[in-house]
Amino acid sequence: MESGIIRVLPDHVANKIAAGEVVQRPASVVKELMENAIDAGATQIKLIIKDAGKTLIQVIDNGKGMNPMDARLCFERHATSKILEAEDLFKLSTKGFRGEALASIASVAQVELKTKQSTSETAIQINIEGGKFIAQTECQAPSGTSFTIKNLFFNIPARRQFLKSDQIELKHIIDEVERLAIPHINIHFIVQSNGNELLNLPASNLIGRIKSLVGSYIQKELVPVNEDAGYIKISGYVSLPQHCIKTKKEQYFFVNNRFVKQPFLNHAIYDAFKELVSYQSHPRYFIFLELNPADIDINIHPTKTEVKFTDDKTAYMLLNSAVKRAIAKGAASADLNFESEQIFNTEGIEAKKLVAPTISYNPSYNPFSESRNSQPHHTKTNKEHWEKLFTGFTEQLAVETPVEKEQTALQSIESEARDFSVFQMNKKYIVTTYHQNILIVDQQRAHERIVYEHYLKTSLDNRIASQQLLFAEQLEVSAGDFNLIQQLLPEFKIMGFDLEVFGKNSFVINGIPSDLQEFNIQQTIDFILESYKINTIDAKLERHDNLSRAISKSTSIKYGKVLQEIEMKQLLMALFDCENPLYTANGKSIMMEIENSEIEKFFKK
Ligand code: ADP
Ligand code: MG
Repeated sequence: MESGIIRVLPDHVANKIAAGEVVQRPASVVKELMENAIDAGATQIKLIIKDAGKTLIQVIDNGKGMNPMDARLCFERHATSKILEAEDLFKLSTKGFRGEALASIASVAQVELKTKQSTSETAIQINIEGGKFIAQTECQAPSGTSFTIKNLFFNIPARRQFLKSDQIELKHIIDEVERLAIPHINIHFIVQSNGNELLNLPASNLIGRIKSLVGSYIQKELVPVNEDAGYIKISGYVSLPQHCIKTKKEQYFFVNNRFVKQPFLNHAIYDAFKELVSYQSHPRYFIFLELNPADIDINIHPTKTEVKFTDDKTAYMLLNSAVKRAIAKGAASADLNFESEQIFNTEGIEAKKLVAPTISYNPSYNPFSESRNSQPHHTKTNKEHWEKLFTGFTEQLAVETPVEKEQTALQSIESEARDFSVFQMNKKYIVTTYHQNILIVDQQRAHERIVYEHYLKTSLDNRIASQQLLFAEQLEVSAGDFNLIQQLLPEFKIMGFDLEVFGKNSFVINGIPSDLQEFNIQQTIDFILESYKINTIDAKLERHDNLSRAISKSTSIKYGKVLQEIEMKQLLMALFDCENPLYTANGKSIMMEIENSEIEKFFKK
């Protein structure tokens, strides 16, 4: 009989396969090692990384350490000190329980473990490479444990190639650290990256920890949530409605101190805000739910962060009402403080939101100049319609100073107004007619395109002038964002943002692009960074292009903005001054055309 094709995989191969599940990127290693340190009762955890963890990840803790026997065993698959029987899964108070993290990590990296229990004289050192035991020696080390992971995926080049840029991998790492640091406030966390200290979070109370992560300004924007409903105990903080922001930033749920993502819980919070803020505003939240472990089912898949409750509906309702109550209390105490802001006044909330800058319009544009011949065909055809539409006033634009130019352009537009009418529809579209057709232009997308091209055209010799602020503004950012802004500083400068490093995780803003008018700087920069990061993940964009897109997304006029007739006309003019007035940078349609023939056809019936 021929030998069967089924073979039991050698352990190191099985581990390498399993590693694909547990270890997806440096951040997963960081998470597993830090969780182990927390489980070991550490009061201080230090993370040292090089090249976003690709070269080195070291986690040093002052926890209980391991004896020599456990130090060997911990790398075995399903070796865990934390679970004895399957039922224990439901009573878990520790982070890890599967006993596969270290086996997986050791199979795809070069690992050195040094560990010492306080009762022991000497420490033990173990070296493992690609799952193969290399050496075990005695050494000197302080009590606690240090894991050093070098050259992650050195033996799986394909996986290594799949890693993203250092910037993105670092962001993932910081995310993981933050998700552990927020619920473990008694632990002092330190993070060093390439020799720089990124985070230093001494033991603190919850608000202190949040402040050291987000910036101390955050305290006055949050209200405490506290509700003990038996089945579930809810605590933490949420944004006051007037401090909801344009982007989703810090939004955290912790169930029994474990970070989870749970859409229905998220919905419970948004619902509590729904009459108070526009749908584009997002609260920050740091919400802790405590339940009897028997009432939850933490998905035991290593990388999933979902959780199931035995009673989802009750959890939803309790959280929803807890948040509503917290906001109402926050409103009441604001009144007591004689603060002028009316929390339940939606108008006030609208006013706090980003104020869009004026529409930038190039009055010197002449559609009859030579250069437009280089336009791609489709844009040109479309432009030709427009040339006819605007015939008559474009020639009048050759005036000396920019101010005069602008005025003349405005006058021209005004004088031509009777020749092309516009109106705004649903505070969202600009409707106009030409050649008996109807054109519906999406105001936000149109302006995004205009702003995008404006910033895209900048370069070292073609900078946007910076308008100096009367009072330089200080900008506090998270560690990850600090890193990102630093890399983008030269690009920001070209585009008129005059930023300067100002100590740890903070910048001063000396100037902003001269064509941006009123706007909330902190929010805009936050928004720009957020869009930038999304772009980096979605598409591999070159920095300059990415930043131009991010700025255009962040500063363009939005739906809901009422536009004056003259503004709509300026916007249309500027749009047709663009290289590509038809699509946004991400390829979304800017306008729709309804042909006259369609209209005629309809009325023939
Ligand atoms: P799990 O955490 O699921 O038990 P791991 O593979 O992460 O599995 O760890 C295996 C075992 O190694 C743990 O159960 C624990 O006993 C031990 N261990 C790991 N890291 C540490 C540490 N930093 N300090 C003390 N013991 C540790
Ligand atoms: Mg573990």
